[in-house]
Amino acid sequence: MSIGPGSTMGIIGGGQLGRMLAMAAARLGYKCHVLDPDPDGPAAQVSAHFTRAAYDDLGALRSFADSVDVATYEFENLPVGALQVLGDKLRPSTRSLAIAQDRAKEKAFIEECGGRVASWRAIASCDEVHAAVAELGCPVVLKTRRWGYDGKGQAWVREAGHGAEAWTAIGEEPAVVEAGVDFFAEFSVIVARWADGRHCFWDSAENEHGEGILRRSTVPANDRVAAQIGEAREAALRIAEALDHVGVLTVEFFASNEGPLVNEIAPRVHNSGHWTIEGAVTSQFEQHIRAICGLPPGSTELAASGAVMDNLIGDEVHRWPELVRDPALHVHIYGKGEARPGRKMGHVTKVLR
Ligand code: AMP
Repeated sequence: MSIGPGSTMGIIGGGQLGRMLAMAAARLGYKCHVLDPDPDGPAAQVSAHFTRAAYDDLGALRSFADSVDVATYEFENLPVGALQVLGDKLRPSTRSLAIAQDRAKEKAFIEECGGRVASWRAIASCDEVHAAVAELGCPVVLKTRRWGYDGKGQAWVREAGHGAEAWTAIGEEPAVVEAGVDFFAEFSVIVARWADGRHCFWDSAENEHGEGILRRSTVPANDRVAAQIGEAREAALRIAEALDHVGVLTVEFFASNEGPLVNEIAPRVHNSGHWTIEGAVTSQFEQHIRAICGLPPGSTELAASGAVMDNLIGDEVHRWPELVRDPALHVHIYGKGEARPGRKMGHVTKVLR
């Protein structure tokens, strides 16, 4: 049974993804209720209801659950146990969350689904870092199993014997050691899946990163990348099916000479899909709402011949006066306070005609 317009959709997490979900939900006639510990976040500014609470506040989560018809999350660093109070109102379920928030579980799961990842080892001590570096060979990258995002919680080892510095740099946390991939491009597959198994993909964006942060997504991807999208979609769909995922799921890939290797999965809408707001017939945000509410899928066709999305990171947001003067640009500003370095403050999309 579908959850129709007029219903209330809960969003756990109040960042820019929550904001863009709430805006898409409002257009379809849903009300949103955001739960976040920060009262000044981007999503609360555009939502009908807001609860200020810690993500593990069970009392607050129970009242939140009672107040919504369906709930979703906009980031994955959330306590799985606490979110279980939402029961089957939560879509996607905590299973997607539990896998995606732990890099070791995530990689093992991707491999079980037949996806390929860079060679990796789980480590929990400096000795294990040394052993893994010896086995995998340099360069490798250490990534904390949990709480990492946008390149945070990561340290490279470029020469043998430097494992200890990297172990210190990541805070001596349980981690994975991952072989450095000699990729020629990065791209993502975004899939939306319904409870009955229906699913759809958008065209894949080619993604450029700087200092671990997405800078630009371009659609369509170049021909060398495009040649890997078929295999990548198959892997992404197997992952979504194995998770019994409902909603949007993003799988980030390295395009390498050996084929597509999964970097990571995000059980949610994704920065590399922001171009879909103007560049596709149905955006990732609207489609996520359609999927979790059981409405029919919208078209994921390109709205024009392609799109380029650039993030506005830190001070770049101060370019807005010049950007809004360009009639070809769609400017999105997230309503965050301080433009700290590395902070995603907005983005700008140019639809290619
Ligand atoms: P992540 O937070 O894991 O998505 O990493 C952020 C960015 O760092 C990626 O998008 C890549 O540009 C780079 N990176 C991460 N892992 C690797 C790897 N194993 N080999 C090469 N580059 C990587």
